[in-house]
Amino acid sequence: TQPVRNYDIEELKRLDMAHHLHPFTDTKALGKEGGARVVTRAEGCYLYDGDGNKMLDGMAGLWCVNVGYGRAELAEAAYRQMLELPYYNTFFKSATPPVIELSAKVSSLMGDEFNHLFYSNSGSEANDTVIRLVRQYWNLMGKPYKKTIISRWNAYHGSTVASASLGGMKGMHKQADLPIPGITHVMQPHWFDNAEEGESKEDFGKRAAHAIEQRILELGPDNIAAFIGEPIQGAGGVVIPPSTYWPEVQRICEKYDLLLIADEVICGFGRTGSWFGHQTLGIKPDLVPMAKGMSSGYLPISAVAVSDKITKVLIDKGGEFTHGYTYSGHPAACAVALKNIEIMEREHLVEKVRDETGPYLAEKLATLADHPLVGEVRTLGLLGAVEICKDKKTRQRFADVGKVGTMCRDHIMKLNTVSRACGDTMVVSPPLIIEKEQIDDLVAALRQALDATA
Ligand code: PLP
Repeated sequence: TQPVRNYDIEELKRLDMAHHLHPFTDTKALGKEGGARVVTRAEGCYLYDGDGNKMLDGMAGLWCVNVGYGRAELAEAAYRQMLELPYYNTFFKSATPPVIELSAKVSSLMGDEFNHLFYSNSGSEANDTVIRLVRQYWNLMGKPYKKTIISRWNAYHGSTVASASLGGMKGMHKQADLPIPGITHVMQPHWFDNAEEGESKEDFGKRAAHAIEQRILELGPDNIAAFIGEPIQGAGGVVIPPSTYWPEVQRICEKYDLLLIADEVICGFGRTGSWFGHQTLGIKPDLVPMAKGMSSGYLPISAVAVSDKITKVLIDKGGEFTHGYTYSGHPAACAVALKNIEIMEREHLVEKVRDETGPYLAEKLATLADHPLVGEVRTLGLLGAVEICKDKKTRQRFADVGKVGTMCRDHIMKLNTVSRACGDTMVVSPPLIIEKEQIDDLVAALRQALDATA
């Protein structure tokens, strides 16, 4: 491994404040708190910062470092590819070996219905591509009036104008005058926040799905192009829908001839104990945007898996698809993604999540349910959520949602453990290499942080 570099951290913090605008950050508040935490290296499940702290990364970066940090093989794959061919595009009838091999590999993980990928660099861009594909598909099908996409409140589909519109984050909409036309939002399948008194999870799951049907009928089935959902909503608070939800959504999409889009940017590449979340939850989508775990975050890459139903129309009737990014199918990123998948297969990481660490996280996180602040605990695979509330019985939230969650997040950071607060929901999404003892540490830190918050 490379020798660790010596940084002048105070000077870096000063330059950071002077010259760097951070995403999703209140810069004034950051300045008052003494500037950013400067992470300088990482290994396995641990981050090291410039102030000498070693932190357990319970979020795998931003839900992405699935094979963990410090994988020399991934660096070598990028290095080798960059020496051989650092860049060539995939426009205008060109290709490179890594993009071809990766397309075949990912297709083989997706099952019979999916045989083509369209590449981009981020989850946001993949979802922009989704909108382009949906519009092109219905135009080619001779139904140009099928335009509106139904999404859900609190969904997160990215930060570009189009993908933030697809998302249902009201704060983002407000700042940027979104959504753009042609996108409408319905209730999220979040029993804890949205169920009526005495409503079972199963009944609620059906009601949440029927909200989609209601919207279709309100707007007219002829006008609705597609429904998009994360199999499990991530940034919206690790919302694991009741078992009745997705089968009903599937039925509704089929009944009204809607394309079904499963946004697998978080759920993809092993997170839920299958290669893809739709496989775990038994969903049959038409389009599957993916990113993050595809390269474990070592290089930016994303794609949309396009089902045969759509590619057939696109190829037979579409002529040139006038869409693409300079770095679509970037060779170094594709080489890293291929090696990343190879590591996941060699180390049986998907099976490890399904059979070992997923059930273990579920068992351990469930022990937090007795805490006075905790209203519900949810897990699936290596995704977990702990709902903080004022009254466990009525599931009443604290006023000013987000304040208590942020306090808890700040406490757990002081314990050198990274978790995240989505409103008042503490969420975890650790690297898929996490071991049981590290899960113990993560859950112990969560309990200590909850104690400090109470
Ligand atoms: N879709 C989902 C489900 C996500 O969670 C995210 C990011 O967190 C995105 C899309 C956007 O991905 P990116 O930040 O790479 O643009």
